[in-house]
Amino acid sequence: TQPIHIIGGGLAGSEAAWQAAQAGASVILHEMRPFQKSPAHLTEGLAELVCSNSFRSDDHEYNAVGLLHEEMRRCGSLIMQMADRHKLPAGGALAVDRVGFSDAVTAAITSHPNITLERGEITGLPPADWHNVIIATGPLTSQPLAEAIQKLTGEDALAFFDAIAPIIHGESINRDIVWAQSRYDKAGPGGTGADYLNCPMTEQQYNDFVDALLTGEKHVYHEWENVPYFDGCLPVEVMAERGRETLRHGPLKPVGLTNPRDPENKPYAIVQLRQDNALGTLWNMVGFQTKLKYRKQADIFRMIPGLEQAQFARLGGLHHNTFLNSPKVLGRDLRLKADPRLRFAGQITGVEGYVESTAIGLIAGRMAAASLRGVELMAPPATTAMGALINHITGGHIEDGEQKLRSFQPMNVNFGLFPPVTVTKPEGVKRWRGPEKAMAKKKAVSERALEDLKVWA
Ligand code: FAD
Repeated sequence: TQPIHIIGGGLAGSEAAWQAAQAGASVILHEMRPFQKSPAHLTEGLAELVCSNSFRSDDHEYNAVGLLHEEMRRCGSLIMQMADRHKLPAGGALAVDRVGFSDAVTAAITSHPNITLERGEITGLPPADWHNVIIATGPLTSQPLAEAIQKLTGEDALAFFDAIAPIIHGESINRDIVWAQSRYDKAGPGGTGADYLNCPMTEQQYNDFVDALLTGEKHVYHEWENVPYFDGCLPVEVMAERGRETLRHGPLKPVGLTNPRDPENKPYAIVQLRQDNALGTLWNMVGFQTKLKYRKQADIFRMIPGLEQAQFARLGGLHHNTFLNSPKVLGRDLRLKADPRLRFAGQITGVEGYVESTAIGLIAGRMAAASLRGVELMAPPATTAMGALINHITGGHIEDGEQKLRSFQPMNVNFGLFPPVTVTKPEGVKRWRGPEKAMAKKKAVSERALEDLKVWA
């Protein structure tokens, strides 16, 4: 039978190779290192961790990434098995000895009877006689391959940097202060004319906010990472540096909007939040891509009226990151619509982080092996962490036309991506406060996920 070709021996590619091989498929894994280096990798080991050695929280009841760990363990993940074996003490987090971990993944892959590791860069689209391919070349996909993919998918379908604005959990926004309205009540395709949440600022609040942006600590880049700024997605603090009024004439302009609680008084500036998922549980801060340090962001953005208690599903950032406009170009089977023999996996699909990238590799590996047997494996249900991620990258992200698709940005797994649950107050409990209810919801989502995963796994 035909082998499955997997390009990229990082986290996603190694997991995909393992899953497909364990399902009986024969796999050829192509890794360019050590012949061709990436700007961030230092070794020739498979599944090298390029930065932190943490897989983040391992709590599978109350934390979405911990839940993802658990789902992957239950699906026989190689990456999770080796992470557990090379775990270091790190409180509730899963941190690993990066060398021992990568060596163990490399040994498992190279000794698997169904896997052949071929070292060498793939410099263009896979040859026509490769019928079952997974591309898992990561955020630093080598340039010749990235260019070939871009040619196939179209200019605007592959990005090389992510300029990310923070995303807020809807529940933490103060609805007594913000109001829903689109600028000039304009209803775009599928819109209602009240699609944005608006946070009003007085002159004093605006000036204090601009001062905080100007003095806040910024992230300094490696030289190779030097991020070009594109007009239209300048970091919010760079706009503030260009002049005190720049933001007020840009994304914070107070025009076409009226606060129904105080219609006579025009706000001096208005921050807009745009719905970020179909469920309406996540809200994106419009125009707030930033290179402020993470620990400063939350403090500064909570100065905005209505966001005093904001909980962030994702903070803002600017990074070198090659990723597809997946909602537009990929199907739920992770196949490229323009060339269905190619599946994509890992960070290049628009997920963010070691664990999330690995999860998409796990699913792609299983799907590729199933299609060799003539079976089309469905994506995991959207109530699981793996399914919620697939949903985000292939269309759960709301689509109100071309502009929304273009604003697709990578995302870590978080509870805002799951369909909501309703919980009832336990018997005998007199006072059930917000934080306890939120914890109960997380636990209910996790229990539902692990139950629903059983069938798929
Ligand atoms: P990778 O792990 O990068 O694997 C891709 C593989 O493909 C590499 O081995 C590469 O050599 C190979 N390759 C590329 N092009 C070709 C080609 N043409 N032919 C053959 N092989 C090729 N995530 C976190 O969770 N925590 C962090 O602290 C963190 N820090 C990061 C810091 C930097 C500087 C960068 C760039 C990313 C960071 N990330 C972090 C994101 C993390 O790197 C990814 O989430 C994860 O490694 C993605 O896994 P992947 O398998 O998709 O890609």
